[in-house]
Amino acid sequence: MNIYDCSNVTFSYPGAVSGRPLLDDLSLTVPAGITLGIIGPNGSGKSTLIKCLYKSLIPQKGTINFNGTDLNQIGTRQLSKLLSVVVQSESASLPLTVREYVELGRATYHNAFEGYSSQDAEIADSSIEMLGLRELADIPITRVSGGEHQRAKLARALCQSTSTMLLDEPTNHLDIYFQHQILKIVKKRNLSAIVVLHDLNLAAIYCELIAVLDKGKIVALGKPEDVLIPEVLEDVYRVTVQRIDTKHGVQLLLLPKD
Ligand code: ADP
Ligand code: MG
Repeated sequence: MNIYDCSNVTFSYPGAVSGRPLLDDLSLTVPAGITLGIIGPNGSGKSTLIKCLYKSLIPQKGTINFNGTDLNQIGTRQLSKLLSVVVQSESASLPLTVREYVELGRATYHNAFEGYSSQDAEIADSSIEMLGLRELADIPITRVSGGEHQRAKLARALCQSTSTMLLDEPTNHLDIYFQHQILKIVKKRNLSAIVVLHDLNLAAIYCELIAVLDKGKIVALGKPEDVLIPEVLEDVYRVTVQRIDTKHGVQLLLLPKD
């Protein structure tokens, strides 16, 4: 079973002057139950692809099937029970405490006239605990640090109790402990996850499959040990790549070319 089947997806922003589409006839199959890492340089189309995968952007050409159904046929409310998203560009301006912000992840499960159930509260509590936010739960979300806010975003997404997660640079602003922690939590949940990562060494440890995106196309797709090789990375990232074998698998040393 595949969680996503993308065929010949082409996306350009309407009115964009550049000739090349941001996603250029891209096809990608993602098996269920694994973590797929998406890596690639700035502007290669990673966030654009993620946005297409949760219907925030609609490609001009091609099809995206989610769990075997055309994504366009799935309503927003139904989708929010199946798919949670941690996006890059979201700043917290709402007058909410960290707990209230995290609880928003439960909103899809009740209508506007009902409060949160005790089950909702339990799920929110466990997400808060898991992301190390207990001490901050009653603080306004506007007052926490970038890393703490990033953890709250993940807690909110976990609260949605979905079987699939899309995460766009979830490790941004996080210290090294929490970079690993977040990816460990995703793995422990046995989710289907698609994660955009800049840190290739994190991708090597936590992703079963890695897709390398460059100029709107997938230029390599496979297991970390097959994709994270100098022949693929040196051109795409314009660096020199040295591989190191560790007990966690392959790790990389990335150095300037000259
Ligand atoms: P990545 O996440 O890989 O860094 P993005 O998918 O965010 O790349 O963006 C790819 C390109 O799309 C960027 O070079 C950017 O200039 C362009 N872009 C992003 N958002 C818009 C927009 N709203 N309108 C026009 N162009 C955009
Ligand atoms: Mg991006």
